[in-house]
Amino acid sequence: MNQSLTRDTEMLAEALDRLEREFSGLPRYTPEVPGQTCMASVLAEAAQRLGDNFPYFHPLYAGQMLKPPHPIARAAYALAMSLNPNNHALDGGRASSRMEVEAVRGIAAMFGWTEFLGHLTSGGTFANLEALWVAGQMTPGKKILASEQAHYTHSRISSVLRLPFASVPTDPCGRMDLAALESALAAGDVGTVVVTLGTTATGAVDPLDQILRLRAKHPFRLHVDAAYGGYFRLASNLDSAAQRAFDHIGEADSIVVDPHKHGLQPYGCGCILFRDPSMGRWYKHDSPYTYFTSSELHLGEISLECSRAGASAVALWSTQRLLPLVRGGEFSRGLERGREAALRLHSIIASDARFVAGPTPELDIVTWAVRAPSIAESSDLAQRVFDGAAQHGLHLALAHLPARFFPRAEWPCDAQSGNVTALRSVLMKPEHLAWVDEIARRLREAL
Ligand SMILES: *Cc1c(COP(=O)(O)O)cnc(C)c1O
Repeated sequence: MNQSLTRDTEMLAEALDRLEREFSGLPRYTPEVPGQTCMASVLAEAAQRLGDNFPYFHPLYAGQMLKPPHPIARAAYALAMSLNPNNHALDGGRASSRMEVEAVRGIAAMFGWTEFLGHLTSGGTFANLEALWVAGQMTPGKKILASEQAHYTHSRISSVLRLPFASVPTDPCGRMDLAALESALAAGDVGTVVVTLGTTATGAVDPLDQILRLRAKHPFRLHVDAAYGGYFRLASNLDSAAQRAFDHIGEADSIVVDPHKHGLQPYGCGCILFRDPSMGRWYKHDSPYTYFTSSELHLGEISLECSRAGASAVALWSTQRLLPLVRGGEFSRGLERGREAALRLHSIIASDARFVAGPTPELDIVTWAVRAPSIAESSDLAQRVFDGAAQHGLHLALAHLPARFFPRAEWPCDAQSGNVTALRSVLMKPEHLAWVDEIARRLREAL
């Protein structure tokens, strides 16, 4: 067994002993475990099956938005599993519900919020669903707007909620286009604007500071989808435009952040925050069978989901206790290093004539195309580089991006309105900065 795993396993065993002692007043009993004798062999089979996954944990996995949970999160989750608390109600998870409240308060504090309403969800999709559901209650029948680069979940959620939806074009860097937004607002039928701080494809940051100013002329509700980018509020090496956007995040009506993306958590852990605590009124319901043990707030009273993993809250609470969400702390340095790695890979790619660099990374995502006479040939080569890199042990991702994200001089005979298949790399692991030169070396070899 590798050394760090041994250390983590010992740490978990000690914590499990400690937890067992908390319940030592109970009479002894023998747990009944059906199939116990075959467990080890089934587990070995599962391990073998899992070998077919990409090596997500390794720095040479530099593809999709996948980041290993911190060992403390894994251990705390496993520790909580001996109780399997349900944070729907205090009856199902008294201690873990309180830990959820504290952990969510830590996330809200990143945005300067002390009085707010918020809770964890199974992920960013459900958190955004709650944001748009409340938006729909506040401005019934009015339109939801999000940029063309916003996560597809917003148009889909709008259709689930039967709210009209329209998308707003972006600039060539993937950020919501202000003039286009302003003309959409002029129609007078917009209820909510979704501002993405960190798009999923390229990490573009919508100009929140300037979008907020449009509210003076056309009032609208503002929801920030920072499922991927939210923690960059703590980073101190953003460029000035992105920094200005993050500086204003606290002025949003609601914010979504995914601890299971950049917050070192296992899936599924999302978070929804509302600036106005009175939004709790939309959740009001009567449950005849859950809320008995206390008149204290049960999280199920302010959440659309019923059963939720209390273990997620325990893992998040423990991670934030170890690595507080503060500027200049160890956690924020990890984000800064990812951005540094992305800028470095971007400049290596920009200086290689065989590639066409995409927009300068605003967070930690790098995109680039392969130089070729046409969009079709470039797309074809991207697929081949992707496959070739995998053969050299380097795992990248592909993204279909608007051709206008790349310099105008490329593909002169093709319309700039089409899409090109490009390569994409999310450098979100703390090790990526140290590995970026090796990543670039293998990328060149793959060509
Ligand atoms: C990932 C993501 C989502 C969806 O969140 P899940 O946790 O995958 O459900 C929504 N918006 C943005 C910007 C994202 O990056």
